[in-house]
Amino acid sequence: MKTERAEMIAGEPAQDVLKKLVRIHQGSEMHWVGNGFPVRSVFDYNGLGRELSPFLLLDYAAPRPFPPGDEKRGVGAHPHKGFETVTIAYQGELEHRDSSGGGGRIGPGDVQWMTAGKGIVHEEFHSRDFTRTGGTLQMVQLWLNLRAKDKGAKASYQTLLKAQIPVVELPQGPGTLRVIAGEFNGRKGPARTFTPVNLWDVDLAAGTSAEFPLPSGHTSTFLVLKGEVTVNGGRNAGEGDLAIFDRAGDAIHVKADTDAKILVLDGEPFDEPIVGHGPFVMNSRAEIQQAFEDYQLGRMGELAG
Ligand code: MN
Repeated sequence: MKTERAEMIAGEPAQDVLKKLVRIHQGSEMHWVGNGFPVRSVFDYNGLGRELSPFLLLDYAAPRPFPPGDEKRGVGAHPHKGFETVTIAYQGELEHRDSSGGGGRIGPGDVQWMTAGKGIVHEEFHSRDFTRTGGTLQMVQLWLNLRAKDKGAKASYQTLLKAQIPVVELPQGPGTLRVIAGEFNGRKGPARTFTPVNLWDVDLAAGTSAEFPLPSGHTSTFLVLKGEVTVNGGRNAGEGDLAIFDRAGDAIHVKADTDAKILVLDGEPFDEPIVGHGPFVMNSRAEIQQAFEDYQLGRMGELAG
């Protein structure tokens, strides 16, 4: 493993320069979002929004069993504006519905990619079947910022089913990588994004390792979803930990000390003011006030029936 660029030798490709690990970040204690989502706030826009641009927030619901039930579990109608929410289901089944007419049901491996844009109202629940049968829930919700020029985009919705998400075998066989967004080894993910983003679900077998090329200048980070890993041959990270890298460099190196699963978040940062309040993330206080007013006046739409 190279930690510095090798001297260029005529005719030989340059070695990747590893992005320096800045730190291992740990999120908050678990709290409930509504009555359905026991999440740890791994980070949010008030703490790391600038450092991790374009990523604003990451909530992680670690595996947790739910008994069979009758009462709906989740969060009722609420607004968003100025960014996108990306929900990845790992275990259990979720159902969303929004004022743009979007919505759907996602199970293990599926993803919902919602563009709140200029304003949306939605609800997020466990699916009716999953509530009735009970079972283990594990999921992630990521908030992805939009540039100022895209914050007024029309609200929209993409359901990315497991079957649409390419699974790439990693070189030399350490495991697999699902390209949800962006590209890996020439394979493109199905998500349509406003700015360059790589979102990869990676599974590594115990004792193996892999190097992941990530563009220099991008914000690069990963969340450990299962197991223990060693980062760039140095520090260890476990379930719920977020590894944050320097923007300079071309790659990161991950060794799986046990069977491990990580979610790689990588994106082109943008240097614009981040002013957030609750479900809205804009560029100024005036825009936040406007968002509250728009919501109260029904300008973000309503859920049907
Ligand atoms: Mn929401």
